Amino acid sequence: MYKFLHKSFCTTASAGLGRLLVKMASEKSPLRFEVFAECQTTKARTGRMTLVHHHVDTPVFMPVGTQGTLKGLLPQQLEQLDCQIILGNTYHLGNRPGADTLHKAGGLHKFMNWKRALLTDSGGFQMVSLLHLAEITEAGVKFKSPYNESECMLTPEHSIQIQNAIGADIIMQLDDVVKSTLNGPRVEQAMHRTIRWLDRCLSTHERPSEQSIFPIVQGGLDPELRSECARQLTEREVNGYAVGGLSGGESKDDFWRMVHLSTSILPNSKPRYLMGVGFAVDLVVCSALGIDMFDCVFPTRTARFGCALVRTGQLNLKQPQYRKDTRPIDESCECSTCKTYTRAYLYQIATIETVSCHLLTVHNIAFQMKLMRDIRSSIREQRFPRFVQDYMLTAYPDKDYPVWIVNALEAVNVTLL
Ligand SMILES: [Zn+2]
Repeated sequence: MYKFLHKSFCTTASAGLGRLLVKMASEKSPLRFEVFAECQTTKARTGRMTLVHHHVDTPVFMPVGTQGTLKGLLPQQLEQLDCQIILGNTYHLGNRPGADTLHKAGGLHKFMNWKRALLTDSGGFQMVSLLHLAEITEAGVKFKSPYNESECMLTPEHSIQIQNAIGADIIMQLDDVVKSTLNGPRVEQAMHRTIRWLDRCLSTHERPSEQSIFPIVQGGLDPELRSECARQLTEREVNGYAVGGLSGGESKDDFWRMVHLSTSILPNSKPRYLMGVGFAVDLVVCSALGIDMFDCVFPTRTARFGCALVRTGQLNLKQPQYRKDTRPIDESCECSTCKTYTRAYLYQIATIETVSCHLLTVHNIAFQMKLMRDIRSSIREQRFPRFVQDYMLTAYPDKDYPVWIVNALEAVNVTLL
């Protein structure tokens, strides 16, 4: 559609038609973000992103699908679980099935039969974390193919070309990722390079009326570098922003301060995505700090290890205490697993039978979706601070709250009970 409009615009002699086409193109933004309600105490807000394939209510948790599937679930089940958007990994999809196959299939939506919204990462993080031999230069990320040992290079341009072929509603810039615990000149270099790479990504993007590129705030744990990065990113024409380079082993006190700082600089009118964060208490705290989007492999990964998420933490169904426990995982959960199976049954099959992975994944995704629904409704109904207090009291009934949670919530005017 973009190419068609662009071509028509260039060949038409009529200024009137030209103006009309420009208007059509500008009206057809691939991301419209409306904020419905803002918490009067914290920085939390609830709203809706309207994307090309589906709308997404925020704050949202996005489950992660790796090879074009969410391990253990069918796309139809994700719809039934109320998922509006899922995440795909560009690194994996670019290798298998590859950009050509995806392009011929009409994009990942058609290839995997997922009709709702999709977000893809740039591939950079996967590469740096999976391949120890990756070397980062100004040109891009150089690595040896894990399949045939040949030398490859993922450049900002290449990442966007693959993501254009995949066709996700939201795509990520290639960023220069450094370990969150690192400090010194390398952090500063990576921050500036991330901005240069953003400009290369934006100029190579071929589908700006269908896909939005999100830039990524980097800068390690240095407040000055992070502020500088966030400020520079806001000078670019984009539809949303991500906060990256966190949740990688830094202290939780450093983590929340960097999130708080980033959301204070990024504009209120655009969605903010905190990458790689998905523990329930982190979702609650970071929603209070003004984050709108989250993703994490944790809920699906922990399901494969036999663990079910509950508001008090998680149940490890491998433990013998569940051998004769005839209750569901969570009596208040509406998911098909909780309506049908007991803890005793799950104990028998956890991590042994593939169906246990399926049943626990259904529950864990349902858990995340319900948590986000509860966060959204409490913001809409102006009772979010109370929701946070009650949530933390359930998670820490002895009130032994981690210091970082107390500090983070104090920073947005919430004192725990
Ligand atoms: Zn359940």
